Amino acid sequence: MTYRIALVKGDGIGPEIVSSAVKVLEAVGGRYGHDFQFTEYLAGGCAIDACGVPLPPETVAGCQQSDSVLLGAVGGPKWDTMPGHLRPEKALLGLRAALELYTNLRPARIFPALKGACALRPDIIDRGFDLMIVRELTGGIYFGERGRREGKYGEEAFDTEAYSVHEIERIARVAFESARKRRKNVVSIDKANVLESSRLWRETVHRVAKEYPDVTVSDMLVDNAAMQLIRDPSRFDVVVTSNMFGDILSDEASQITGSIGLLASASLGATKCGLYEPIHGSAPDIAGQNKANPIATVLSAAMMLRYSFDLSAEADAIEAAVTAVIDEGWRTADIATDATAEVLGCAEMTEKIIDKLLLAK
Ligand code: NAD
Repeated sequence: MTYRIALVKGDGIGPEIVSSAVKVLEAVGGRYGHDFQFTEYLAGGCAIDACGVPLPPETVAGCQQSDSVLLGAVGGPKWDTMPGHLRPEKALLGLRAALELYTNLRPARIFPALKGACALRPDIIDRGFDLMIVRELTGGIYFGERGRREGKYGEEAFDTEAYSVHEIERIARVAFESARKRRKNVVSIDKANVLESSRLWRETVHRVAKEYPDVTVSDMLVDNAAMQLIRDPSRFDVVVTSNMFGDILSDEASQITGSIGLLASASLGATKCGLYEPIHGSAPDIAGQNKANPIATVLSAAMMLRYSFDLSAEADAIEAAVTAVIDEGWRTADIATDATAEVLGCAEMTEKIIDKLLLAK
């Protein structure tokens, strides 16, 4: 089978970490008999330098014609003073819109061998956690009506949270489908004690839940969810929530895992073409020094195999290789401790993962 993958390496460490993921995909393709064809496109600061805009039309067209997109990261101090419409980050929003990506999936789990890097109490970490945040990405308050007006006490500003039944139904289905591939439990997070949009959210999620009798569903208020993520993250399997609540909770969930260099993400829409990227930025402080941890991007590539190409065995193989390398004690600088004998660079960590992948039965 042939899969066309658009590579948007971006800025800073983007080219290093995407190259690592490509090597891992080539290894997995060789082992399982798949042909991954890669085409590079510019976006972010490098596109501003080359073409004068952060998201050239060729990049949009190329990504739309691909089976999926693997992105590194965009941005850096060089472009920090550009006007708003010419900021590298505009490329991300533009790509999400062009590919009509309405779901963001962010897994957060603890690697037992990296417990030391986790900020939670040892008795909480010992229970382990492996959760998936399903965040609505194109609706809610970030896209609602906004403005400034004269109020009773002078100038005031407003933003509007609005959700349609259609938007809630489609994100709920992503959550239930995702739960079916995991531990079959969905927690829907809202603020239904205060917000009318949350009451519609809750009603709709429960109506969709009837289509998935094998999956358990419950509700949690967002303030409680923020606490429970720290008190007992092991209680969560799949979490589904709105754009703004998901933005905040997914950052909290990634923080409790201990390392930003390990966390992958997927943005999905109505078609199989998704956008896969690490959650971290372009890390300009370590760019071009072979210091970046490639694992978040490698795990993003594994998500691409699972969610866009339905290649679960191949995704499992990549995830198992990463876990085995970490269990054996191999570390890049960001996850190294005083006990680490040898700190690996980005290229060497990639080789270790590929070795494990090729050795595994
Ligand atoms: P960052 O995530 O780039 O870096 C934060 C810290 O984490 C830095 O010390 C960095 O060295 C480290 N780090 C990040 N990824 C790492 C990895 N894979 N391996 C080892 N260490 C890693 O966040 P920042 O410094 O706030 O932002 C830098 C630039 O990235 C900014 O221009 C920002 O706008 C951009 N950014 C882009 C995205 C994206 O493309 N999706 C996301 C966030 C930030």
